[in-house]
Amino acid sequence: MELEKKLLHKAGEAIERFRMIRKGDRVAVALSGGKDSLTLLELLLKLHRRAPVPFTVCAFTIEQGKFLRPIEPLAEYLKGRGVEWTYFHDKPSVRLIQEQPAHGCDLCSRYRRRAVYEVARGFGANVIAFGHTADDFCEALLRNALFTGRISALPPVAWSRDREFRLIRPLVYIFESQTAEYVRHLGAPLVPCGCSQKTGTVRRELRDMLAQLEAHHPRVKETLLAAMGNLELGRLLDPRHVEA
Ligand code: SF4
Repeated sequence: MELEKKLLHKAGEAIERFRMIRKGDRVAVALSGGKDSLTLLELLLKLHRRAPVPFTVCAFTIEQGKFLRPIEPLAEYLKGRGVEWTYFHDKPSVRLIQEQPAHGCDLCSRYRRRAVYEVARGFGANVIAFGHTADDFCEALLRNALFTGRISALPPVAWSRDREFRLIRPLVYIFESQTAEYVRHLGAPLVPCGCSQKTGTVRRELRDMLAQLEAHHPRVKETLLAAMGNLELGRLLDPRHVEA
């Protein structure tokens, strides 16, 4: 399949460029129930069979009380694919919804991070793979530049505190339109999160803005992504990088 070949090439390029996966790694894929992380899992399963260095792949899903559909079809699908998968019911996150229904993303993601590390530790994993896409990198760049006054997006590779886990984002060069098409082709079941239906957020506004630009300039997101890998620091306003 042409699309799959393309996606494998893009993920392989990211993994190699940023040394995301190394010999003997045990990679735990964070499955959110959405199309991006399912694409990531499938690509890693395929890459693992042909990679020049040996590594293993497992997966997990954190239940935070926000899924809109039952998890069973996903469990069946993963079983059929022979994936080692854990479904972790995070009680503190579920309590958070009951006690503070209007909590923000900061609190929710802090709870999720703690659960993610706990599950990865249980798996004996040293690498955690997240399904952030090229769209997420573009949105993060705009959000940081427009709302926090910083030129930064997301790290393709980072470390958890004490360097216990390497955190990787192999879909950095892959767009959501491609993960949507790929998951349709796989026939994988999606388990949407209630938050994905939210409107009126900054994220939604940035998405709409990019979509409007794309209507007239179809390659605008590719260009923004390329710009993140092509910095001209001397043409920005950080005196640390300007020759006096
Ligand atoms: S969008 Fe929803 S699930 Fe995601 S971090 Fe925010 S509150 Fe949590």
